[in-house]
Amino acid sequence: KTANIGVVGLAVMGSNLARNLASREGNTVAVYNRSHDKTEHLVSTHPEAGFISTSTYEEFAASLSQPRTAIIMVKAGRGTDAVIEELVKVFEPGDIIVDGGNALFTDTIRREKAVRETGINFVGMGVSGGEEGALLGPSIMPGGSDESWVTLGPILKSIAAIAEGEPCVTHIGHDGAGHFVKMVHNGIEYADMQLIAEAYDLIRRGTNKSPAEIADVFAEWNGGELESYLIEITAEVLRQVDADTNKPLVDIILDQAGAKGTGAWTVQTALDLGVPVSGIAEATFARSLSSHAEQRAVSRDLPGPAQALTVDDADSFIEDVRLALFASKIVAYSQGFDEIRAGASAYGWNIDLGAVSKIWRGGCIIRAQFLNRIADAYRDAVELPVLLTAPYFVEALGRAQDAWRRIVSISAAAGLPAPAFSSSLAYYDGLRAERLPAALIQGQRDFFGAHTYKRIDKEGTFHTLWSGDRTEIEAEDTH
Ligand code: NDP
Repeated sequence: KTANIGVVGLAVMGSNLARNLASREGNTVAVYNRSHDKTEHLVSTHPEAGFISTSTYEEFAASLSQPRTAIIMVKAGRGTDAVIEELVKVFEPGDIIVDGGNALFTDTIRREKAVRETGINFVGMGVSGGEEGALLGPSIMPGGSDESWVTLGPILKSIAAIAEGEPCVTHIGHDGAGHFVKMVHNGIEYADMQLIAEAYDLIRRGTNKSPAEIADVFAEWNGGELESYLIEITAEVLRQVDADTNKPLVDIILDQAGAKGTGAWTVQTALDLGVPVSGIAEATFARSLSSHAEQRAVSRDLPGPAQALTVDDADSFIEDVRLALFASKIVAYSQGFDEIRAGASAYGWNIDLGAVSKIWRGGCIIRAQFLNRIADAYRDAVELPVLLTAPYFVEALGRAQDAWRRIVSISAAAGLPAPAFSSSLAYYDGLRAERLPAALIQGQRDFFGAHTYKRIDKEGTFHTLWSGDRTEIEAEDTH
């Protein structure tokens, strides 16, 4: 018997993806793992899957029908390179190697180029949804050539999550496009989580509600425009009681957030591209700040405001927080899509932003109703330069902005950190501004570095002779 698809790397993600593939009509799945005991364990615990167990790369290749298609799900980085090196030896031109791990998109670009020289297709594929998604239906973001999409498309459509009848997979673009979009997905996820955390903190401190009561607030929000997986699981986490202490689990968990690095990649890449993803950056930095226990310990006695947060009307305060969360979330997504647009332009990918928002509606961590509105926005205006200027978002921001400003002011006055709320508002007001103090910065740059400036009233590039008689001269454009 031969397999039409293979999976290399049988830790939690690879095993679940292999089982998902095997459960679909018409698929036979070959499996391989560096440590063979994992392969044997998977095959013996899931006889229903009908896996073809292989113990060498040669055996793995021989068990696949042509064109051979293999999905790698190993530890991203050197592990991925090691597996590719082996597969290239046993595969032939026309075969397809898919990397479903969390690779940095520049690594994917490099690998695609190297593998392409052998005539083998290489596809970098973002997979979101954690272990449950891998098993039951993830959101899938494949890059790679059009040729490989012909073979891969139907297989991926059969295992992807379904949102409103549509599979959550689309061919994102060539080489690293899929991993780029997956990276930004994770960055948006960081922002979304931070915003929810800030909302929880404000409600907790402002109203003295218990975590279980706040869980009810989130559960209610989940019935409206904030409906999303992250809001839903927030309610579940807040409701959880620790078995040992009988206290809310959220009060027992150490308040130091971990990170596996994809948020940082999103921000680093945005800095390179010159895209202000301030919400994502603040969310990433907030995790860093939380984890610096020693710095927090020596800073505890820094002076703060005399007045703690006081709230007269809890219900209207909570509604303000909800609106601030919604407005900030719109900003975070708008910034994320801005980064995808800039990445597409810099790397020559033709990315359909509306299609991206649609494949995030199911399977992945940021799945939300709200993504339909983003799809609408790009359907109505494919070249939309700023997502939050689409009519639906303009209306929502108009409805939310007073509350948003109140929440940012109140949190600043009470000394409560709300970095994602406040930086999102600053970004929004920065975009709106008729004039920005960037004019002064240009003046300073010209003063100390003769960096020149442009004028509002005539064409050309100018420099003031700051250390001379301070007259203005026309200058070469040096930015
Ligand atoms: P891990 O990231 O823990 O990786 C373990 C697997 O990698 C094992 O199968 C291991 O083989 C293999 N491996 C490591 N180094 C090598 C090597 N040099 N040569 C061959 N095989 C190697 O597994 P996960 O299942 O958690 O994740 C797999 C991939 O999916 C990762 O890239 C991860 O970033 C990505 N991902 C994970 C998500 C999650 O929620 N966990 C979500 C989306 C993507 P062995 O058994 O022999 O050690």
